[in-house]
Amino acid sequence: MAEATAHDKYEFKKTLEVLRDKKGHGTELISLYIPHDKQISDVMADLRNEYGQVANVKSKTTKTNVQNGIESLMSRLKFIDRIPENGIVYFTGTVDVGNNKTDLENYVIHPPEPIITYKYHCDSTFFLDPLEYMLKEKGTFGLLVLDRREATVGLLNGKKIMKRASLTSDVPGKQRKGGQSAHRFQQLRLIAIHEFYKRIGDAASKVFLTVDSDDLKGVLIGGPSPTKEEFYGGEFLHYEIQAKVIGLFDTSYTDESGFLELINAAADKLADLELMEQKNVMKAFFAELISDSGRAAYGEKSIRANMEINAVDRLILSEDLRAEIMTATCPVCGQYIQKTRSWRPGEHPPETGPCPSCGAALDNIEVKDLVDELSEMADKSNTAISFISTDFDEGGQLMNAFGGIAAILRYNTGLWRHSSRHRSCRSSRHCPESRHSAVYKIKKVRHSAVYQ
Ligand SMILES: [Zn+2]
Repeated sequence: MAEATAHDKYEFKKTLEVLRDKKGHGTELISLYIPHDKQISDVMADLRNEYGQVANVKSKTTKTNVQNGIESLMSRLKFIDRIPENGIVYFTGTVDVGNNKTDLENYVIHPPEPIITYKYHCDSTFFLDPLEYMLKEKGTFGLLVLDRREATVGLLNGKKIMKRASLTSDVPGKQRKGGQSAHRFQQLRLIAIHEFYKRIGDAASKVFLTVDSDDLKGVLIGGPSPTKEEFYGGEFLHYEIQAKVIGLFDTSYTDESGFLELINAAADKLADLELMEQKNVMKAFFAELISDSGRAAYGEKSIRANMEINAVDRLILSEDLRAEIMTATCPVCGQYIQKTRSWRPGEHPPETGPCPSCGAALDNIEVKDLVDELSEMADKSNTAISFISTDFDEGGQLMNAFGGIAAILRYNTGLWRHSSRHRSCRSSRHCPESRHSAVYKIKKVRHSAVYQ
């Protein structure tokens, strides 16, 4: 499958948000993850088995609801003859829709990355972990586990571990043969170890250099001490690869099973790395903003104007940004209305009120998702996109002070502030653009910070 675009990911994320909101009364929402290589007949057998088990459930409503869900799944599976390449995920269940009403809802997800493990899960909410994991920016990591006898090279992409090469050494054991001088033996042994490290370095570099250098986020080295330290210190890897080593981690295995050990040992480091990338993006944005280079832009209007002339190098969007552009023409007075409305994840989009001029009810409202639109534009104009979480200070500021939309420009376009249409209302407390006043405040704060 082609690499999912940033826009695909955002779409996917929004779908997950909808699913995350769904609640059942009892443990009656079913999540079914089917990997590509799973036989449909096996899934059917499993569902029949689950159907039988539900008979033991005490609550009659729960029992009926779960059985309805399973029946619905089975009838859907009848129409598929083969599981798609990335697998398929079904969500079904009797969902609470408010006012004491429930409804049997069904969702089918074609995941952007392969489903690895088959899973049937029944709970009061949908089970979304494997799909949520796919949203994370992952890139590729190089894996190398080694000791003096064996080395294994692989790649990690998402949750997928791929073994790429394995080597064994002819380094003699510590026990020397009779007749050899101890000194000579030790010398031969060191030469053999050095030769083996060289072979490992060459093999690993060859594998890691096949990965696009932007995509290769780092290299993890595992093995017993002091072998891995010795290998790393000897700089046996290609210099570009050597520079990407994130850390050395203790593992007891040096075959393929050492990879899992290695990844687990490096887990904290990998999580930090992801956040670090986001932090660096925000740092770069603030650096441009403070330097007055004119290469930092923010706010919907400015970003849109800069996107239109292909001046955006990196589009920076808050992961919490939920916004739609609503357009309508009033059926009574004919006024053209265009409004951006925004909300927070988990909240419902605000209602569109009546015509601001004459108060008539609006029909024919057209709604376009703002992030959709911006990321489509970015994909077309070779603009990088960073989605930034609100889990750290600068990420929170992006959402709260900059309306969730910012950019680093390729050059100073002069279009880094809000449009002149709004300049007149700069001092107004009632600017129709709610984020306008917040932006103004930040600019003031910034200047005082610079001049003090
Ligand atoms: Zn009107």
